Amino acid sequence: MERELKLGIMGGTFDPIHYGHLVTAEAVRFEFGLDKVIFVPAGNPPHKIKRKVTDKKHRYLMTILATITNPFFEVSTIEIDSEGYTYTIDTIKEFKKIYGEKTQLYFITGADAVLEILNWKSADELLKLCHFVAATRPGIEGNRIDEELNKIKEIYGKIIYKVTVPSLAISSTDIRKRVAEGRPIKYLLPESVERYIQKYGLYKEDDNYGL
Ligand code: ATP
Ligand code: MG
Repeated sequence: MERELKLGIMGGTFDPIHYGHLVTAEAVRFEFGLDKVIFVPAGNPPHKIKRKVTDKKHRYLMTILATITNPFFEVSTIEIDSEGYTYTIDTIKEFKKIYGEKTQLYFITGADAVLEILNWKSADELLKLCHFVAATRPGIEGNRIDEELNKIKEIYGKIIYKVTVPSLAISSTDIRKRVAEGRPIKYLLPESVERYIQKYGLYKEDDNYGL
């Protein structure tokens, strides 16, 4: 009998993708024995409407460049191809359709994102459809995460897995800020992505970084 597929889903704006995303995806892939990790760049992220998000073509191509050296990493256009806002619940349902109901999906998020899960569209259904893996990220207190994870366990009876990744205090916000201020971004993200940013002159302008 064929073994069930185990897939990781790494969603993000990836504006730009950096080593925090890559290290996290690789750590979770290894720890959970995933067959592959699919990176899903967001189309029009509903929670980032205050800041102008970089054209999805650029974000998609940077994600391709960054993942090219890992045979277990793939990039999906599922969200960038869809018009309007995209929600994780719709993406997860689509992956279930594509890979079959039996496929085990592991949605990978940073600890900051996991704190928000209960506010996501159809959170209860989402928690039933896939596993969640929260990667610890510097700046987010361990206690706060545990509190939130316990809450989810109490309300939904669902365990969210926790994975510790090497502490990388890297964020896309910081990288955009660095580019705008002319400070180095070398070693924070793959060189190919750094070159892509230079070639297309991305992030040169003030963009209200954190918003
Ligand atoms: P921004 O600063 O624009 O919010 P970001 O660096 O948080 O960007 P996103 O595209 O928003 O990147 O994040 C996609 C996913 O990756 C989220 O689940 C986020 O929590 C996680 N993530 C981002 N940076 C790290 C990191 N350094 N370590 C672990 N997880 C991370
Ligand atoms: Mg973020």
